[in-house]
Amino acid sequence: MAKLTKLDDIVSLCKRRGFIFQSSEIYGGLASCYDYGPLGIELKRNVRDSWWKATVRMRNDVVGLDCSILMHPMVWKASGHADKFADLIAECRKCNTRSRVDHLTAEDQEHTEHIDPELAAEKSQNLSDKVCPSCGAVGDFTEPMAFNLMFETSMGANIGDQMKTFLRPETAQGIFANFRNVLDSTRVKVPFGIAQIGKSFRNEVTTKAFIFRTREFEQAELEFFCKPGTDEQWYEHWKQQRYDWYLALGINKDRLRFRDHDPDELAHYAKACVDIEYKFPFGQGDWQELEGIANRTDYDLRQHQRGMRTLNQWYESGGDLSEVNLKDEDDNYHKGPLSFFDDQDNSRYIPYVIEPSAGVDRSTLAFLVDAYDEEEVRGEKRNLLRFHPALAPIKAAIFPLVKKEGMPDIANNICNDLQKYFACSYDEKGAIGRRYRRQDEAGTPFCITVDGQTLEDGTVTVRERDSMEQWRISQDKLLGFLREKLEV
Ligand code: ATP
Repeated sequence: MAKLTKLDDIVSLCKRRGFIFQSSEIYGGLASCYDYGPLGIELKRNVRDSWWKATVRMRNDVVGLDCSILMHPMVWKASGHADKFADLIAECRKCNTRSRVDHLTAEDQEHTEHIDPELAAEKSQNLSDKVCPSCGAVGDFTEPMAFNLMFETSMGANIGDQMKTFLRPETAQGIFANFRNVLDSTRVKVPFGIAQIGKSFRNEVTTKAFIFRTREFEQAELEFFCKPGTDEQWYEHWKQQRYDWYLALGINKDRLRFRDHDPDELAHYAKACVDIEYKFPFGQGDWQELEGIANRTDYDLRQHQRGMRTLNQWYESGGDLSEVNLKDEDDNYHKGPLSFFDDQDNSRYIPYVIEPSAGVDRSTLAFLVDAYDEEEVRGEKRNLLRFHPALAPIKAAIFPLVKKEGMPDIANNICNDLQKYFACSYDEKGAIGRRYRRQDEAGTPFCITVDGQTLEDGTVTVRERDSMEQWRISQDKLLGFLREKLEV
């Protein structure tokens, strides 16, 4: 089992090896924003692809979508984000630092959901014994207040038709807004899901722990629509699927667990919610949310039906969402435009939704932490990333032992051949041992060396990352050998 390492070790390896850099570093950096370097983008892409493969490509009941980040402001009115997507914050009277109240109150919890501010206020009236994380002052806070997390922006160049809108704080609403489009343009039928991966933005009060909580991040979300009454069974199904996904990609079982939300933690529309948590090497309690799975009932589709009926108010208010009040539902809401006609039993209903919502950056961090290892080999420290082959940024590195006797040409040809099937890298610089170490740190599962014997019998040395075991394989068997081991 790989060693559970300190976050500092991961941060420094990420920078040193080109996985992740601080954004705008040449100008002193922009807090909470990060850039993925050459190895990092490959890793993150593999995380995304693995999610997409398991959630969309390997199933016949899920389709994909890619929505725009900017959406009609009424989407955020109907979803509740414009009014209630807020954290309850309190300001330290000594140093003016604002903190999330739920972060101050929870003894050994990192956070709770972004909850309804009224509910949060009830839960955390008393800050008298709470400590300011910035200056250490005790119990010296302002009254808690709601702080909306959405980034506002405006669209349009002409003064007269500029419109206030938001950068999306989650990808899910684009899926609900396209529910009818997908139904009308494909052959899907309930039960089915729509999946999306994309950027989301939240003006988080406190950001921390590297890419764990940032203001710009990527989500992988699935909205799975099912008939009311079957929702509990689908909830269990997706809970298991998502848990198994992390295990299948090598996450250590001892560091992964479910945490059911307490009833008073649940959003008012949610019937059930569970977090998949990972034991990260930071925070007071270590266990932190990796992904949330919620039974959202028919809340979102119903809200958008109400939003559609209320659109005129938005025009009349000149685009001021605070003046818009969603119209109440009529008794026939379940036959509205966002309902589904079920030809199995000729019924019409608004489907229930099961939502597994994962963070791409957060799971990338979990995979990095989980894979990191240090060991001593012949008196020297070896750092390595024991990535699952599906996640490894580079699957095989090819080296000529020396830069002569035609070895570079042979190695280059092997690299060009293998590159058609998976990501490879060619390296001829430095001593062979150092080249191995570089690839260990990048998490490359196999290194292939062209040496003197290659010139004689056409075999190469293949070295495996974790065991450092070596085999001689003939060049014509190399591709088959690696594809079997890498499962690609
Ligand atoms: P938190 O309570 O940690 O602020 P949340 O419970 O509100 O987050 P969700 O709205 O359920 O988070 O978002 C689903 C997933 O998106 C989270 O499990 C996480 O993986 C990811 N995510 C949410 N906010 C952030 C963020 N600021 N930075 C990175 N990933 C995030």
